Amino acid sequence: MGESKVDVVVGAGFSGLAAARKLSGHGLSVRVLEAADRVGGRTMTVTSAAGSAVDLGGQWVGSSHTELRSLAARLGVDLFASYDNGKQTATVDGRPISLVFATGVGLAVGSARLALAARYGRASDHQTLEDWKSAIRPVLARQVFDALAAELTCRPAGEVSVETVAEMIAGSGGIREMVTVKGGAQDALLRGGAGGLAAAMAAELGDDVELNRRVIEIERDPTGIGVHTVAGSIRAARVIVATAPPVAEGIGHRPPLPDSRGSVQRNTIMGSVYKAVAVYERPFWRDTGCAGQLITPDGPIRSTFDVSPPDGPGHLCVLVPADAARRLDGMDETTRRAAVLESLVDHFGIGVRSPVSFHEKSWHQDEFVLGGYAAMPRIGHLAQVRAAQAEPVGRVHWAGTETADRFNGYIEGAIRAGHRAATECIAAI
Ligand SMILES: Cc1cc2nc3c(=O)[nH]c(=O)nc-3n(C[C@H](O)[C@H](O)[C@H](O)COP(=O)(O)OP(=O)(O)OC[C@H]3O[C@@H](n4cnc5c(N)ncnc54)[C@H](O)[C@@H]3O)c2cc1C
Repeated sequence: MGESKVDVVVGAGFSGLAAARKLSGHGLSVRVLEAADRVGGRTMTVTSAAGSAVDLGGQWVGSSHTELRSLAARLGVDLFASYDNGKQTATVDGRPISLVFATGVGLAVGSARLALAARYGRASDHQTLEDWKSAIRPVLARQVFDALAAELTCRPAGEVSVETVAEMIAGSGGIREMVTVKGGAQDALLRGGAGGLAAAMAAELGDDVELNRRVIEIERDPTGIGVHTVAGSIRAARVIVATAPPVAEGIGHRPPLPDSRGSVQRNTIMGSVYKAVAVYERPFWRDTGCAGQLITPDGPIRSTFDVSPPDGPGHLCVLVPADAARRLDGMDETTRRAAVLESLVDHFGIGVRSPVSFHEKSWHQDEFVLGGYAAMPRIGHLAQVRAAQAEPVGRVHWAGTETADRFNGYIEGAIRAGHRAATECIAAI
């Protein structure tokens, strides 16, 4: 097989699109091969019955997410501030308590212990979060910390190590930043949704983005790479695989990948997460001083947020991580919708039962992304995964939010990782 001057990017999520834009910006030929019939990956925007853009995947823009902010500015996509006024509540054992109070207790006790464990080298990759949190007192703090930890990792506490969580918190700017709306990781939202920004990135690349082209095998030889897809093969100079590592495991390699890379793919697991957005004529909960923010360790859902566009309909976002998300899979669509909405009545009133439209997605059932928010190392594999996850294998490079040094798991991390992988390819010319 001969040499090629085309760089191929596998996956049209934010990471792959960011990598392709950078390569293209350097005058290189690029093709983005996407398995699905849409771009955006773990972001996805649909249209409500009221005509508004509804984000079913990644959506918030953090105050420190500088690459995402400048990308949106360059592509003319405006941001608006998340609504963050009024009463925030947690319900524990059916009792409503102030979210500020509950979060404060949970955070102060839980995160202080995590910070101490990390500082004194006691954040072990061999201890599960389940085992570690059992020492948190009082019980209320443990319950709230538990709900927050599931919300942040989308994993059962028995499947994630203390060191992995400590590292994730440090890489995201601290736990307070992670759970804060104004000035934190939930600071702002994108007009037209995150899917709209991904579509704008893809539009710039035009016909170089090809949908419905799942890559099934990558064949390395001394002069380049053969990329085999469900719809024909392409010869490439270099390849950037921009998927989560467990998803990359679905791609065959000839010759086989070295053990260090194979281990990254086999020893990371995706989280499970269900997200729904109920759309109302207006955000009626604001009338009674309610911020729309609820955390509840009990019942079928775990949290809600007001993600309404300014001057638009009311959007109530419902997030359900980990085991609770898997439990919802057992219900049919009608039963699940009724269970989700009914669980909100005590807090939001009976008006919550009648949205103008209701949208939902179980990300762990998406065949091309396998879950969310991100893949995490299995217990005991953190150091090996971090050492090898971005290490190129010959002319094959690795992007995806999981490979980011900072904001791993966020859209911001996806963009940074895409830029880093593209820079590697450019440097190799
Ligand atoms: C419910 C949910 C809520 C979230 N909320 C936020 C948030 O508010 N803010 C935030 O910053 N982040 C959030 N995230 C995380 C964020 O969405 C992700 O970190 C980010 O989108 C990952 O981008 P990526 O490009 O690295 O990977 P992906 O988006 O997973 O992109 C990988 C792409 O590769 C494609 N692909 C897979 N296999 C193949 C193959 N063999 N051949 C070709 N293509 C293939 C996939 O279809 C996909 O399009 C959330 C995620 C979820 C699921």
